[in-house]
Amino acid sequence: MKTYINKIETFSSVDGPGVRTVIFFQGCKLRCKFCHNPESWNISNDGNYTVDELFNRILRSKPYFSNNGGVTFSGGEPLLHKDYLIELCKKLKKENIHIALDTAGCGNGDYKELLNLVDLVLLDIKAINKNDFINITQTDNFDKFLDFINELNESNKDVWIRQVIIPNINDNEEYIKSLKEFISNNIKNVKKVELLPFHTMAFSKYTDLGINNPYIDIPAMDKEKCIELEKYI
Ligand code: SF4
Repeated sequence: MKTYINKIETFSSVDGPGVRTVIFFQGCKLRCKFCHNPESWNISNDGNYTVDELFNRILRSKPYFSNNGGVTFSGGEPLLHKDYLIELCKKLKKENIHIALDTAGCGNGDYKELLNLVDLVLLDIKAINKNDFINITQTDNFDKFLDFINELNESNKDVWIRQVIIPNINDNEEYIKSLKEFISNNIKNVKKVELLPFHTMAFSKYTDLGINNPYIDIPAMDKEKCIELEKYI
């Protein structure tokens, strides 16, 4: 089985615990207005890595994972590569490699087998109601997101929540309190909530790819204000 990997980053310290190798899968069905990886959107029918090739690539970094590092699957949307990931995760489990899945929870359904194989889910929350979800992701996938949360809760896996904070859109006390309520009422085993400041570093990618950037006039989020907002979580 082959699939398309957009890029691989080693020695990451921001996508889960410890030192991690991050695998960015190609393809995503959402079109988040704040996306900083628009180059990963197109779904490719080609593949550049077999399961064994990617497994061996990850294994090369194992000496650096130490006690709490490991591999993080990101994207794009890794859930679109479910069958490939199941095969790969089975091999990684035999090597005792910690597996994190960074996802928006919008794939093709039935994630039970995959979730049983991962150790941690980094769940990206785009919005906490249908209308805002449609507005921000430019797609109608809120029900899929809720279905994923149900399966995630059944799996009993640890969860880290990630929410991008955008100036004049959700950078206020009221939203953060609603976010807290949504998480408390809907998601089990939450170990951490990360508020990620919106940044403009990917703007040039939109220009290079000829993609309309709906947030072109939005400035980068003030990092101090983002930290300040954490007190409401
Ligand atoms: S889910 Fe992630 S990769 Fe897909 S559009 Fe949103 S931010 Fe970009």
